[in-house]
Amino acid sequence: MSSGHDRPVLPETVLVAGGAPLGGELRVPGDKSISHRALIVGALGEGTSLVRGLSDGDDVRRTLDAVAALGAEVHDDGEVVTVTGGRSFLHAPLGPVDCGNSGTSMRLLAGLAAGFAGVTVLVGDASLSARPMDRVAAPLRAMGAKVTGNGLRCLPPLTVNGASLEGITWAPEVASAQVKSAVLLAGLFAAGETSVREQLRTRPHTEELLALADADIEVADEGAGRTVRVRSSPLRPIHVVVPGDPSQAAFWIVAACVVPKSALRVRGVYAGETRTGFLSVLRRMGARVRLDEGAPGPAGEGAGDGAGAGAGTGVGDGDGAGAGARARAGAGAGAGAGAGARRGTACSSVGAVADVTAQWGPLSATVIDASEIPSLDEVPALAVAAACAVGTTRFVGMGELRVKESDRLRAVARLVDAAGARARIEGDDLLVEGVGGAWGAGGLAGAGDAWGAGDGGGWKGLRHFRFDSEGDHRMAMAAAVAALAAGPGESRIDGFGGVATSYPAFLAHLRHVGGHARVQLIAIDGPAGSGKSTVSRAVAERLGLERLDTGAMYRAVAWAALDRGIDPQDAPSVAELAHEALIDPGPPDVVIDGAVVTGAIRTAEVNRAVSAVAANPSVRAALVERQRAWAAAHGGGVVEGRDIGTVVFPDADLKVFLTAAADERARRRRDEPSDGVARRDELDSTRAASPLVQAEDARLIDTTCRSVEEVVDEILSWLR
Ligand code: C5P
Repeated sequence: MSSGHDRPVLPETVLVAGGAPLGGELRVPGDKSISHRALIVGALGEGTSLVRGLSDGDDVRRTLDAVAALGAEVHDDGEVVTVTGGRSFLHAPLGPVDCGNSGTSMRLLAGLAAGFAGVTVLVGDASLSARPMDRVAAPLRAMGAKVTGNGLRCLPPLTVNGASLEGITWAPEVASAQVKSAVLLAGLFAAGETSVREQLRTRPHTEELLALADADIEVADEGAGRTVRVRSSPLRPIHVVVPGDPSQAAFWIVAACVVPKSALRVRGVYAGETRTGFLSVLRRMGARVRLDEGAPGPAGEGAGDGAGAGAGTGVGDGDGAGAGARARAGAGAGAGAGAGARRGTACSSVGAVADVTAQWGPLSATVIDASEIPSLDEVPALAVAAACAVGTTRFVGMGELRVKESDRLRAVARLVDAAGARARIEGDDLLVEGVGGAWGAGGLAGAGDAWGAGDGGGWKGLRHFRFDSEGDHRMAMAAAVAALAAGPGESRIDGFGGVATSYPAFLAHLRHVGGHARVQLIAIDGPAGSGKSTVSRAVAERLGLERLDTGAMYRAVAWAALDRGIDPQDAPSVAELAHEALIDPGPPDVVIDGAVVTGAIRTAEVNRAVSAVAANPSVRAALVERQRAWAAAHGGGVVEGRDIGTVVFPDADLKVFLTAAADERARRRRDEPSDGVARRDELDSTRAASPLVQAEDARLIDTTCRSVEEVVDEILSWLR
């Protein structure tokens, strides 16, 4: 019962630069909605289900951990997730189930938990704890379950006391795929028939997956609505490939439309009608987007790489694409079926799959009704498109955005304003007055060099900005797209860490298609025992950044010299060693030429030798080059040492110089004799090559008698 993965961590602050066209192709994470449901339906199947291409975001991880807590056996080898379950396996969990930031997990699991005896407590983070659960509680109560939460709107924690359920007919006032799914899942345990009648069709993934699992289910479309009926019956295990998430693809598709001279292809995207409304909206705005159906599912063994017919680098005029395939309940043989066979088992694709290509071009304003994009997930991305368009786009009926991961209605308006376009909220409508992109005042002719003069002087599009997504993943990604479109210059996005809930590879993908993103570089220098390691570790953790301990690199070279019998004072030999050695500074381990030396570099012998090694200019040149390469590869980070702010990264975003009283430092370095620490400080401060000195623009903190937390808080306050 293991997920096999730690929760992904992304930097809290990201700096994204515009000015570069985007190109190439990518695959977005597996669809979140389908991933949650595949795990739950898999847990209900009598046997072992296989799921490929599962979303790697934290939200889906929560559902994965939850079905394990409810009794299913789950294994994730990084490529395929197996879920072994069945009704008799499932039971109320031993403790509360933490849904993190995931509303989908909480609502779907409430439906599942209603089906079996015992109490299930579903908890969430601060943002989820403010999201109403009443719409899901009401039908479950009507079926006979006891569901309680805080206040009238039933805020989490949600307590579900399962019972013998009775089937109901439920017609939700507000179309919601999550409520529908919860009722259908509970209906699998209920006596008689359970039916859900929706006025407006919502995403059909629960129906699709239940049909794949041979549930006793019927789906009937009526006008714009749909009725789904389900009866209790044993489910078969499922073998599915999760297609790419269209709501994540939307960020890249919009980016290609708004970043001058871009052309991108997103492969293997779920293309059912309830999820591709944003593509119709973009086409109406004049965007050049095309959908090639029949594309294969996620890459992997047997997945093949056949791009959809005609999906070359050029992009058509968008006419022929149509609105995407109709999603079919029970579409076991979706176009991508068979892709991703494993251990001889064919996996079905859930619903229709397509490659989407998009290209930069002029956009004009439109009117977007909430019914076109039922989940409203694509509104933040579409708002960026509207901000770049000519004219004022009206988003009609966006009230539901107020109860997403943040008050997204206000957040979208804030982003649009920050990026130099204008937003206004009128009741539940959002109006976005676009700047017209490079097609604006200068017109098409002025866009000859779309980015204008090198200094951005000729740029007529969005301007770079600073924006706090307040942890809302979609707002952070939409801000990144706006930043890419904002012409030359860097935009700062705070609260970016939330992107890990749905798209941990977002930054890697941004770079892959040619965008520039970096994180802050924080230099922390100071003498031995000043608290550098502890403080830099804590700062890195709080900011979601990687950390480099440059002292460990000098120590590794000193260790290797001693190990090879080289005198640390023998400058040419030690220099040769430093230039040739392969050093991995960790974490977790410090490795030099294959030897793990994490512990060995902290010995008295190395303490005595290291200052001489570090005084060697040629050794420093070799290691400084690697330290810079490390930062380039990570896009920034927290780097600690002696010369980081003065020599290695003189342009660091923040420089900190730590110090502490000599006796305090000696006390912290109990393992090293106090005269040893003093001698090392003396050598480090008086050497000719990059001596330990405080950079002129470094902030000084005396850590004597101060807690780590206080010091870290002070450092973080300087970043604001
Ligand atoms: O930080 P730590 O005490 O592990 O560093 C060990 C030694 O490495 C220091 O005493 C110093 O001589 C050297 N060093 C350096 N420049 C750095 C980091 C460490 O000279 N940037």
